[in-house]
Amino acid sequence: MLIDTHVHLDDKRYNEDLDEVLNRAMDAGVKRFIIPGADPSTLDRAVEISEQYEDVYFAIGVHPYDAENFEKLDFEKYINHKKCVAIGECGLDYFRLEGSDEDKLNEKELQKKVFVAQIELAKKYKKPLIVHIRDASNDSKELLLKYEAKEVGGVLHCFNADEQLLSLAERGFYFGIGGVVTFKNAKKLVNVLPKIELEKLLIETDAPYLTPTPHRGERNEPLYTTFVVQKVAEILGLSLDEVKNITKSNAEKLFFNN
Ligand SMILES: [Zn+2]
Ligand SMILES: [Zn+2]
Repeated sequence: MLIDTHVHLDDKRYNEDLDEVLNRAMDAGVKRFIIPGADPSTLDRAVEISEQYEDVYFAIGVHPYDAENFEKLDFEKYINHKKCVAIGECGLDYFRLEGSDEDKLNEKELQKKVFVAQIELAKKYKKPLIVHIRDASNDSKELLLKYEAKEVGGVLHCFNADEQLLSLAERGFYFGIGGVVTFKNAKKLVNVLPKIELEKLLIETDAPYLTPTPHRGERNEPLYTTFVVQKVAEILGLSLDEVKNITKSNAEKLFFNN
């Protein structure tokens, strides 16, 4: 059994065929799914899906690209829902900052403020964090340490292979590995993967994004966790079952308290 710990099933690209997408995944052994919060406008859809499908859960949060919408999101309304398992995805993403230097600085400050607010919410409600980091390892690590995110721990989803983040494993953080590991240019991730403790590995697709080889260019879907597992097993010299079992029990520990 496998758990896709990060899949945007609320994306409109699944509106037409969500049943089939989930059935295909389940037939291949992907049995549980977590929809991360990202854009607050699709959160109601995520909740609806989690109520419709027994094995779908959701997280509540605001992606750094949507930081300006943070104030509009009524966290308290969703946080006690029985299918809500985490806070996020939240974090810092400096990849496509735009405008003048001052604009960029303001955007960074806003992202930081919204990230810290979500770390505080996670601690208040005792939920793990789903953290998104792109081109912002230094600042992200600093905030996670400064605001004691270790109280709840979480996952560095779509782990960017930055070695300075590995020490967060000692603070209750897991490392989400997805389709990127199958890319030809993923050397950095391939090299760093053996340095992550097995007990800290999670599998994710981030679908509909980051489609693994050999389906690049197509819509991603949770079925394709199988390609991720295959690649991880190959790099680590483990069997498919070993990777499935350990990552499943890691996900259960972090998100489902068992
Ligand atoms: Zn992300
Ligand atoms: Zn995502």
